Amino acid sequence: MSDTRFGRQELLFGEAGQKLIRETSVAIVGVGGIGTQVIQSLVFLGVHHFILIEPGKVKKSSQNRYIGMRHSDPVGTLKLDIAERLIRGVDPEAQVQRIEGWFPSPEAIAALQTVDVVFGCVDKEGARLKLNEECVRLGKRFIDSATEIHIKEDGGIQSYGGRVFVRWTEQVGCLVCCDVIDLREAGEDLASAEETANRGGIYGVQQNENGSGPSVVSLNAVVAGMAATEFLVGMTGIRSPNRLTIYRAERGIVSLSRDEPAQDCLVCG
Ligand SMILES: [Zn+2]
Repeated sequence: MSDTRFGRQELLFGEAGQKLIRETSVAIVGVGGIGTQVIQSLVFLGVHHFILIEPGKVKKSSQNRYIGMRHSDPVGTLKLDIAERLIRGVDPEAQVQRIEGWFPSPEAIAALQTVDVVFGCVDKEGARLKLNEECVRLGKRFIDSATEIHIKEDGGIQSYGGRVFVRWTEQVGCLVCCDVIDLREAGEDLASAEETANRGGIYGVQQNENGSGPSVVSLNAVVAGMAATEFLVGMTGIRSPNRLTIYRAERGIVSLSRDEPAQDCLVCG
C-alpha cells in the first residue's frame, strides 16, 4: 500500500468510493458545536466542495466545544472564519463558499439547490423545520443532527445524547412524519422570528442568544461522527444510510429507530 493521503480509508471503500466523496458537494447549515465537528470529519474524509451557512460570532462560552477555535481567537470572531480555517488547514485547495446569514434567507435557499447533500446542524427547531421543508421541496439528500440534554426542574439530569436523521431517498419520509422534531417549539421559534422581521430586524430564523441550553463537546462528537458515517456509507455504497440513529448516552447505547413514518405527511407526502 502506498503512503497516500487517503490510502488507509480506501482500504474500506476503494479509490472509486474516494472519488465519489471528492466529487460530492455539501452544505453545512449551522456552523456551531455540531457543525464544526461535521466539517472536520468531512474534510478529513476528502470532501472538497463546501457551502457554509452561518451568521454567528463566537462567544467565550463557545470555547468548550467549537472545533478549530483557538485560545487566541477573540470573542466576536465569525464562526465562518473558524470553520474555513479548519477546512483549509486540512485541504488548502478546498472550495468554500460562505453565506453569512440566517437560514432561511433567499441566498441560503438558492445555495442549497447547488449541492448534493445538506447537513442540518442548527440548534433551533424553527430553522430545522424550514430546512426540512426546503430539502424535501428541492429533493436534496438531508442529514440532520441534534444533541439533546434534558435537565429536570429540580436540576437533576433526565437524559442526554442525540440523534441523526437521514433522508437519503423520498421513501424515508421527513422530520415531521417521522416525529423527530418538536413542532410546538418550532412554531414558537418561527413566530418570534416573524416578530423580529416585523420590527424591521433581520429576516430569518434567529438563534436565541441568551436562551442557549446545555452543550457538551463529546456528545456533539458522537452525533457528528454518526452523521459523517451515514454520509460515507451512503456515498460509497457500503450500505444504505439508516433513517434514524439514536444515541442514549445515559445508557451508553446507540440504536436504530424501527418506527415507520406517519401517512399523508403535509411536508413530504
Ligand atoms: Zn414527511
